[in-house]
Amino acid sequence: MGNVGRHYYQWRYGGASPQSPPRWQLPAMPEWVPAGQEIDIPDLDATYRLHISEANVDTGAVTALAEIDIARFNEPQPGKLYLQVVPAAYGYFTLDALRVAGQPVDPEWIDGGFILGVPLPAGLATPFTVAVDFRLSIDQEASGWGGTSLDSGVLRLGYWFPIISDQHVFSDTLDPSQSRAANYQVTVDAASDVIVAHTGVETGQSSLGGGRVRHEMAATDVRDFALVLSRRFAVQSTTLSDGTTALYYSHPASPGGAASAAFAAAEETVSAMSGLLGPYPYPTLSIVDVGPRMPGGLEFPGLIYINGAYAPFDRLIVHEVAHQWLYAVIGNRTLVDGWIDEGGAEFFERGVPTGFTEVPSPPAEGYQFWLDADATELRAAQGRQWYYSIYEQGARFYYQMAWQMGWDAFWDAWRDVYRRYSFGIVTPVEMLSVFQSHSPVDLRPLYAEYFRYPWIRDLLPNP
Ligand SMILES: [Zn+2]
Repeated sequence: MGNVGRHYYQWRYGGASPQSPPRWQLPAMPEWVPAGQEIDIPDLDATYRLHISEANVDTGAVTALAEIDIARFNEPQPGKLYLQVVPAAYGYFTLDALRVAGQPVDPEWIDGGFILGVPLPAGLATPFTVAVDFRLSIDQEASGWGGTSLDSGVLRLGYWFPIISDQHVFSDTLDPSQSRAANYQVTVDAASDVIVAHTGVETGQSSLGGGRVRHEMAATDVRDFALVLSRRFAVQSTTLSDGTTALYYSHPASPGGAASAAFAAAEETVSAMSGLLGPYPYPTLSIVDVGPRMPGGLEFPGLIYINGAYAPFDRLIVHEVAHQWLYAVIGNRTLVDGWIDEGGAEFFERGVPTGFTEVPSPPAEGYQFWLDADATELRAAQGRQWYYSIYEQGARFYYQMAWQMGWDAFWDAWRDVYRRYSFGIVTPVEMLSVFQSHSPVDLRPLYAEYFRYPWIRDLLPNP
């Protein structure tokens, strides 16, 4: 069961601890898939074995091997896999070797290596392994937002390894990564004074001699595996009321008192969202101050990046913790349907601390984009219109749904989304179908105010 927490099983199985938990196999809703609502990230069962043999927190040099064991495809096996390599977009990535089932392969190099097209030979049978030897030369990423960056002795390793994805654009407004849930086994060899914050749980630690230590970690059903390394981290921990272990990683420049404020906001959010949607499924929640140049925060499964000096700090924590439900557990095509996760996190950021009364007002110039704008369209955003149009307009949309259908039906719909799409990916047609199916009023006129989807008229109201 890996890192799927006991309170999750308490809820899911009523206290039983099955040896082989059933997979989430609920009917897709709706059964039809309109154009543009396909999920191109291949549906497969994979275990990532990631080995970092060098991670230097002074120079940013990382040497690693990613072995992706593909057990089976849950759909016809594609002729090509697309590996997403976010560090290539920052110019940090060097590919040393790529092998499919032991055979060297020359990948198709797309967008400077941000996407690697890996051909799969016809007749290649599962299980097989895609192995990538690579190095990273990580520097201080210019915008401050970089998932992968070296900032004041803090080495951020988010989106740091080749991961199975689809062909998509890089974005500096929406999160640049989209992937499916998988299992992870990770080892990091580093100097013995380096503290390692990570997704999942630590399963072992051993001395390598010469002042070096191997950290062994694992995670189940996570769609990414983030690490943050620093020899300047101090770690505080607490237990949230649902049993989750919350950890706060601070560095010498972090403001005092931030840990207790972060724990209070995390408790409020985990408690609220567990009740409203469904339980927080991971045993740990790591809150990591990744350095003074981070303008806000970033979400990874079971781990969030924050800047301890950000104000209002509690809102930042609520937003990033809310992403554990909207992005980590309930996945979406983040570069295509940013309204689901970013609009949702903004809705909960404003709603959880205020009893769902704080509604963002439109900016004076109005919204530049429809709520369904994707990362490519958002490249034309002026000023902070990417934020207004997707985050704030998304929050308004969720509020308007709640007002029209009533709060009880609204929360029933959210629990249904959680039940159907946990550890999967939900598309807009599925989201809007679930809310429509729980609504006593026809939501299609509201949908048409926010979205250009041509299939809205086909979402018939609940009889
Ligand atoms: Zn967000």
